[in-house]
Formats: sequence, structure tokens, C-alpha cells
Amino acid sequence: MIFGIRPCDAQAFSLLDKLFGGDDFQDPYYLKRRKQATIISLACTRPQITCFCTFLKGKPDNEEGSDIILFDLEEDILARPITDRGEKFIENLNNWFKEAKESDVEKKNKLMDLSLKKIRSQVNLQNIKEKLDQAFDISFWNEIHQKCLGCGICTYLCPTCYCFDITDEVREGRGKRVRCWDSCMFPLFTLHTSGHNPRPTYKERMRQRIMHKFNYCPENFKEIFCVGCGRCIRNCPVNLDLREVLKVAHG
Ligand code: SF4
Ligand code: SF4
Repeated sequence: MIFGIRPCDAQAFSLLDKLFGGDDFQDPYYLKRRKQATIISLACTRPQITCFCTFLKGKPDNEEGSDIILFDLEEDILARPITDRGEKFIENLNNWFKEAKESDVEKKNKLMDLSLKKIRSQVNLQNIKEKLDQAFDISFWNEIHQKCLGCGICTYLCPTCYCFDITDEVREGRGKRVRCWDSCMFPLFTLHTSGHNPRPTYKERMRQRIMHKFNYCPENFKEIFCVGCGRCIRNCPVNLDLREVLKVAHG
């Protein structure tokens, strides 16, 4: 069970499903866990100033990707099942639940209206893929990366980032193939054994992060791989703001 994630995080699973469970490629390790997991999200009552989920099909009570969505009404928790799995989960624990009152639903609706109003970021994503098709070589990339520290926080916190590395290791005398999380913001991620690196500087790596989410994924999966959670903005140590990058790239 994955419990208490925000609806934007749950929505991200729907995107990752397209990658790890698509027609061309099926990742058995991801799919096994995915099929076994029950996802219980918690509707958002505290959007941050960096949130922009509403520009990416999201909202504080978005149901996509969740089996059950919970609403914190302070005295009580309101639970709404979304999928059959969610229905069954609640049925199996029915002595923990009681029927919601009309007043609970009204309180929930008010909280969600309030929450929606708190999302004030403006991001223009109209035709962003096509705009970025023309933006690979613009001079803007020469400047925007200059304050980036290459720490990788933006990718490790992102619910739609999925880059990984595979290594063969020897552990306790036995060979083991290990897959671990990696980040396109690190130089080693693309370093060839020859010593050549096709993304040698912060410039290429920063451009890759933006292009991957807003240009290559729309090309390959017909989806922008961002849910507007704003974490990469909030936690970047040098305040590199994805919204600003998109604004300039958009033109
Ligand atoms: S969090 Fe900020 S400084 Fe760190 S890699 Fe990402 S953009 Fe660069
Ligand atoms: S806002 Fe940033 S961290 Fe959140 S999904 Fe988009 S790229 Fe990832």
C-alpha cells in the first residue's frame, strides 16, 4: 500500500505506466509491484505557491492513479473509493468506516474549492512540444544552466523522473545485476566507456531534463511527463524555476 501521497503523485503513476507497461516494452519488476499496490492518496488542502497541477490535468482532488482518495476534514477523514480495488479495500475494513453525512460532503467540497483557489502559478504549456522542437539550439540554454549545481535534487524529488542505471556487481562471491535510480543531471549518467560524454556540461544536462519531459515524452507517449507538483522549484538550492525556463523556452 502506498498511503497518503498527494493526487499529483498518484497521477504520476499513470504516466509511468505508459513507460514501464506500454505496448513496446513491459518492465516485469515495475508491473509486479504496480499490480500489487493499493494507492491511497490524500486530497491537497495546502497547495504551495510553486504548484501548477491545474495546467497538467490535475487538481487538489484529482482521482487519476488513486484507488482511494481521502479528504482530511479535521475531525473525520472522508474516503472515496475510485477503483474496484479501492471498493474492495473499504469493504474488507468496513468496521473502520461509516456512511458519510451530507454535511461531510459539503465540508469537503468547500475545502476543495478553497484549495483550488490557492493555486496561482501561471504556466503556458500550449503547443509546448512544438515550441521546444524549435528551441534545441537557442542561446537561452547557454545562460539558464549557469547557476545549476548539478545536485540532482530536482530529479530525485520528481514523481515522473524515472532514469536508472544498471550495473553488474559482485556481492559475497556472486554476480548480481543491479538497477538503481540515476539522474540525467549527473555527468556519469551519459559517460561512455570510451571517455566520450554526449552531455558534457550542465547546459546539455539541463536541456535534456526539460526536453525529456516536455518534448520527447509528448512525442513518444503523447503526454507531458510533469504533474506540476512544483517540488523541483521549491527545493532547488539555487532557485532555478521550471516555470521560468518554460516561459522563455515557449517564447
Ligand atoms: S535542483 Fe537545481 S541546482 Fe540541483 S540539479 Fe536541479 S536545477 Fe540544478
Ligand atoms: S513540477 Fe518538477 S518535480 Fe513536479 S512533476 Fe514537474 S518536473 Fe517533476
